Amino acid sequence: MNKDNKASLESRLPHACDYIDPASGGISPPLQFSATYARDAQYEYIGDYSYSRSGNPSWEVLEQVCAELDGGAEAKCFASGMAAVCAFFETVNSGEHVVAPRVMYHGAQDWLRRISEKRAIGLSFFDAGDIEKLRQAVQPGKTSVVWVETPVNPTWDIIDIAAAAEIAHAAGAILAVDGTVASPVTTRALEYGADIVFHSATKYLNGHSDVVAGILVTGELNQRWEEIKLVRTLMGGVLGPFEAWLLLRGMRSLFVRFNQASQSALRLAQHFENDPRLQRVLYPGLESHPGHEIAKRQMSQGFGAMVSLLVNGGAEEAKRIAGNTRLFVRATSLGGVESMIEHRASVEGPHSAVPQNLLRLSIGIENCQDLIDDLEQSLEML
Ligand SMILES: *Cc1c(COP(=O)(O)O)cnc(C)c1O
Repeated sequence: MNKDNKASLESRLPHACDYIDPASGGISPPLQFSATYARDAQYEYIGDYSYSRSGNPSWEVLEQVCAELDGGAEAKCFASGMAAVCAFFETVNSGEHVVAPRVMYHGAQDWLRRISEKRAIGLSFFDAGDIEKLRQAVQPGKTSVVWVETPVNPTWDIIDIAAAAEIAHAAGAILAVDGTVASPVTTRALEYGADIVFHSATKYLNGHSDVVAGILVTGELNQRWEEIKLVRTLMGGVLGPFEAWLLLRGMRSLFVRFNQASQSALRLAQHFENDPRLQRVLYPGLESHPGHEIAKRQMSQGFGAMVSLLVNGGAEEAKRIAGNTRLFVRATSLGGVESMIEHRASVEGPHSAVPQNLLRLSIGIENCQDLIDDLEQSLEML
């Protein structure tokens, strides 16, 4: 890293934070596919690596850039977002207690329920829209982790990170934030008091719907972080070299992608806010959104690109609207350059708490008027 470069992250990210390959001068890192690393005649390792599950050169630049992006001490990449989530929760011991939002990314919640049953870990959920509910859910001395996600998927409720950190710390717990939806472009959770930040890098960081990856960033180097690194090596949920390379390439355009998508999402949400064919539009950038004031404080560069529509009617009407779109892709996931529409309750299955009339939109980087027109024609056909 070039210490003299005082430019903003927005300017430094396209340069992979001043990366230049020391061996060749290449401005993109070389790819190293080797699974194992040779020793010399004295039986010493030739380089810094022994075996690619414990560490490999393809992760280095990516992890340094991710640490800078969130202002953390260190970052580690994983084979998927869920591999990172699972590695993190491996650090929770039997008898300890975890608090998480009642509505949150369903995969992470399913994992929490599983380890709670298997390992006698206490588990409480709180309503994301009300921080007092978090205060009531923590058990001082027993709660070791408060896990929050903001904006919360798929209602986009906003959790006040600074308040959650204060509550967690007062109870003797750490605060971990799933920052996937906000991305570090608009929210750097460590700056608001979080101890660890998680991103499904499959989403905005990569941005092109062609890599599955996860990132953990720590505010400080400590015992728990050492354990997370050990778990990554032993559980083996490691990112392949090519995926690491693709992810870094995708990240170079993170700011322009996110900002364009975020601006379009606001315009689209405002356009449909009072549409009589819809019950409600959920987007933290709307003044009518209950989390708007907190969002203004902790989302520094826009309110993100995720919007949910509560349509008049139920699952059938919602699916019909999704079925009528021509530009929006009907698919799960988010954060790609292509806009997506999904009937969330169908994706989450019969136990889902998501309303049947909710359509989740991930706004991409297309022309915003084309996206609005696509939804207009789709609603028209209802
Ligand atoms: C996608 C997602 C995850 C899981 O990440 P994968 O990369 O799919 O394993 C976790 N949290 C949120 C908010 C997500 O959107």
